[in-house]
Amino acid sequence: MRRTVQYLLMQLCCALWLNCYSPHAQADVVTFDELIRQLEQGERVFYDAKAARDFLQQLKQQLPPGDEKRLRRLQREVCQIDYLTDPAGGVQFAGRFISDPALSSDHLTLSYFYQCRAAHLLNLGEVARQQEDLTQALALANSSEDALAQANVLSQQADTHSIRGEHAEALVRLFKAFELFQKADNRQGIGLSLENIAAAFRRMAEYDQAIEYLETSEREYIAPNDSYRQAFVLQQKAFIYAEMGKTPQARSLMQQVRQIYLDIGDPHYAVATLIDLLWVSNLEQKYAESVELIGQIDNEIKKLKQKDPAFRPFNHAIYQLYQAEALSEYGQLQQGLRKFAEAEQVLVSEQNPRYLLMLNQAWARAEAKAGQYQNAYRLLDVAGQLQEKLNSQAKQQREALLRFQFDSELQSQKNTQLQAENRLTGQQLAVLEAAQRWQYIAIALFVVLALIALLYAISQIQRNKRLHKLAMTDELTQVGNRRFVLARCDQVQQQAAPLQQSWCLMITDIDHFKLCNDQFGHEAGDEVLVAVARTLQTTLRQQDIIGRSGGEEFLLVLPDTVEAQALEMAERLRLAVAALKFPRFPGYQVTVSIGLTQAGRHEQVREVISRADSALYRAKDNGRNQVVST
Ligand code: GH3
Ligand code: MG
Ligand code: MG
Repeated sequence: MRRTVQYLLMQLCCALWLNCYSPHAQADVVTFDELIRQLEQGERVFYDAKAARDFLQQLKQQLPPGDEKRLRRLQREVCQIDYLTDPAGGVQFAGRFISDPALSSDHLTLSYFYQCRAAHLLNLGEVARQQEDLTQALALANSSEDALAQANVLSQQADTHSIRGEHAEALVRLFKAFELFQKADNRQGIGLSLENIAAAFRRMAEYDQAIEYLETSEREYIAPNDSYRQAFVLQQKAFIYAEMGKTPQARSLMQQVRQIYLDIGDPHYAVATLIDLLWVSNLEQKYAESVELIGQIDNEIKKLKQKDPAFRPFNHAIYQLYQAEALSEYGQLQQGLRKFAEAEQVLVSEQNPRYLLMLNQAWARAEAKAGQYQNAYRLLDVAGQLQEKLNSQAKQQREALLRFQFDSELQSQKNTQLQAENRLTGQQLAVLEAAQRWQYIAIALFVVLALIALLYAISQIQRNKRLHKLAMTDELTQVGNRRFVLARCDQVQQQAAPLQQSWCLMITDIDHFKLCNDQFGHEAGDEVLVAVARTLQTTLRQQDIIGRSGGEEFLLVLPDTVEAQALEMAERLRLAVAALKFPRFPGYQVTVSIGLTQAGRHEQVREVISRADSALYRAKDNGRNQVVST
């Protein structure tokens, strides 16, 4: 997959006519970045200088020419790896970057150069300057908000505290580093933090805690193929058992560790483990076995010195002490005493109170054996002071740790409380929002329903109006129908009575209409009907009412009208109809006869109509096309 990506990138690069030419045949950005990623996520770990140098070489080969940013990244590693055996050179190298104004805003890079210089200063024994550099490195890492850089500085600070026996201080930093390594997703860092936490607990004689942390690391953070880490954890466990006095367990674990190193083929660590076994053998007072082990250790050291004359086991100082103890207990007293003096020189320079205590106690026993009671007494006195110092230090550390644990417990309680409160307000908000949503939905639904109801009501009203109009209108002529005109008659009669108004009623009938139908057809008859209705309507006044009472007969109601006025109106109607022309029906002349009457005050509408009807009858009788009133 990665190969494909790499290939595609190359293709793209060339397709864009970018300058793909590189004087370094294999230089490749993708590989360079991948190597850095592996390093930063703890997938690349070096257990010896050679492995580190090989890696650096590879990185140098992949550096594209002219790539300033990656060059700087490379130089961070150069500072560590190229100066592994030249701390003074390393201090100088890092110093060049630290004082480079071009880097002043690149806090992350600066933080790493401070870290690098601090590591070299520690090797030079310049602890005060080392501390200062670490403080700077931490501030810069914090300001660049880079979790890995922060974790690395804190780990270095923890180391320094650990060496000085300030285990609580170390632990505080290791716990923080642990969290930051988790944030940076660096499994190697996470595992190492756990193991260092365990080591600090061990040094505080908190053995149960120590074992717990080691086992967590062993269970969760050690890759099955990472033999070095397995060996390291087993060794730590062995130390714990040895200090607890459980020497058989310690011995068996150390033998496993040695086997792992032999399997890997790492003679340096294998020798160091033999020295650890020597310690256990001394603890068990099996001095014959101890002396035998010394022979074996010296033999292996000799072989390694043939390859590298500067070789020394990692735990060289403590080896002097173990040898001194074994030899003096096994009857080689003088040799033993000489070794004690040698051991003292190295151990004093290291200032490790635990080792110094062991030295003074064992040395005092040897001096006593040699009859040098005064020396023995003096050494025991020193041992007593050291023991006291260690005890009070341990007490202080435990107290400091308890304080720290209490503080962090308090902090975490506060955090949980805050989180719970946040969750609660979050939940309340969510509930409120949900309620509000429902309210909106309800309101919207209500509005929609109300609109539907309103529209429905309007349509119903319109429908009723339409139906009413239909029910009251004559379909053919579009004037009112019989029902309509009779209803209005009643109304006019009712309104007229209290006002003492007169009103008149006319019945208009088309003359010989049957003949029209017979002569021109029913449709022509319809047309004539429509024309007559319209003429009557337009000739009438605004307040007058017309309705088709049946066939070719119309009822006309004239409110607030006396007979004389009505007669005038009737005459006008008759003439208007007679003036109608029907060019399509040649020779046809339409006329109407009109029966008219004025309504009596308390008369029934029925009676009024009947009177008008008889007037009409008379008009027909008298020869039609005329108005007759009663
Ligand atoms: P009169 O002068 O005596 O009133 O004679 P008339 O022929 O008008 O009267 P009659 O009552 O004998 O005939 C009325 C005719 O009106 C008969 C019918 O066919 C016709 N008529 C009634 N309603 C309609 C209609 O809606 N359309 C048409 N085309 N003819 C109608
Ligand atoms: Mg008629
Ligand atoms: Mg008629």
